Amino acid sequence: MVDKGSDSEGKKGRKRRVRKNVGGSPYIGKLPRGCELCLEGAKLVLLVTGLCDSKCYYCPLSEGRKGKDVIYANERRVLRDEELLKEGRISGAEGAGITGGEPFMVFERTLHYVKFLKGEFGAGFHIHLYTTGKMATIERLESLYEAGLDEIRFHPVSRVSLGSLREALEYDWKVGVEVPAIPQGEVKLIEIARYLEEVGVHFFNINEMEISETNFKELEKRGFRLREGAIAAVEGSEEAALKVLEWCRENVRKLSVHYCPTWIKDGVQLRNRLLRRARNVARPYQEVTEEGLLYFGVIETISCRGDSEEERDQLERIVRMLRRSFEVPVEMLRVNPKKVRVETAWYILEEIAPYLKRKGLKCATVEEYPTKDRLQTLYLPL
Ligand code: SF4
Repeated sequence: MVDKGSDSEGKKGRKRRVRKNVGGSPYIGKLPRGCELCLEGAKLVLLVTGLCDSKCYYCPLSEGRKGKDVIYANERRVLRDEELLKEGRISGAEGAGITGGEPFMVFERTLHYVKFLKGEFGAGFHIHLYTTGKMATIERLESLYEAGLDEIRFHPVSRVSLGSLREALEYDWKVGVEVPAIPQGEVKLIEIARYLEEVGVHFFNINEMEISETNFKELEKRGFRLREGAIAAVEGSEEAALKVLEWCRENVRKLSVHYCPTWIKDGVQLRNRLLRRARNVARPYQEVTEEGLLYFGVIETISCRGDSEEERDQLERIVRMLRRSFEVPVEMLRVNPKKVRVETAWYILEEIAPYLKRKGLKCATVEEYPTKDRLQTLYLPL
């Protein structure tokens, strides 16, 4: 077996360095490929089920997914393989992170997706998978390996997880462990790091503990609270993680260790993922903002309810009038039948808004997520 996970930096006599990755989070050794792609926003997040047989009190899974047998590719609900394919293409994904719930609870589905994604996007499409390992038999690991899985990440919730972890090390893929940093839990994490180094695991990811709509009561019961000024980070979690990172710098030679703070998720991963998607879906009149949102202008009729033929005709008439009177190029105009409005570039609309308003039309600039639901985050009347 070839050990692709060894880290030359850790050779005898050379002190390990704490480095910062492109997103700004600290690590020692080598950043896992799955993390590199995730930071670039190039990973499709594929939740294969919300079902899980573990009951971690800190589980941050959202209400709509927790305990439900649903499939999501990023924010898109998936019912057929074509929807997954479309999301992968539109988001410019170069890999996927298969998550749950517990993906092994729907093992055949999980295996199918590994094969399907490798088949559609090619062998170089990097796939990593999260599991507790409790349901990971040798046969199952073998079939995932044969299907081309690149990286497997264990969330050890019991001794059984550790057994599976050792079995996974028999294959030529990357094996890691990923856990949340419980405030003041550094002693336990150091114990884990020592074990991982001993058995030859390639990487150890320590996540900042995250408060969500579904776990905040359990966290509160244990005395954990939101860090001042943070959106989701638990106070004391970062301190514990950084102590472990420092201990690892001094005491481990081969294991790579990465601390992933909560702000990385929204500030870097999500932003980069939105940027990729926005560049793929933006129409010529839509500007992609620095945050990866779509910015453009909208024209609506005063009584726009979307349920009358006459209203839709009126929108078509507006488009014809803009083409004729202002010579707006055809690619810079669109009737959006779902939202019952005409869309154009913000800078075009700013110029002609006074005229349109005199005609009794409503004009505004809007900002939207480039995701399937097109959530609107800004509406500025002109
Ligand atoms: S193993 Fe993961 S999905 Fe399952 S309960 Fe724990 S944190 Fe939630």
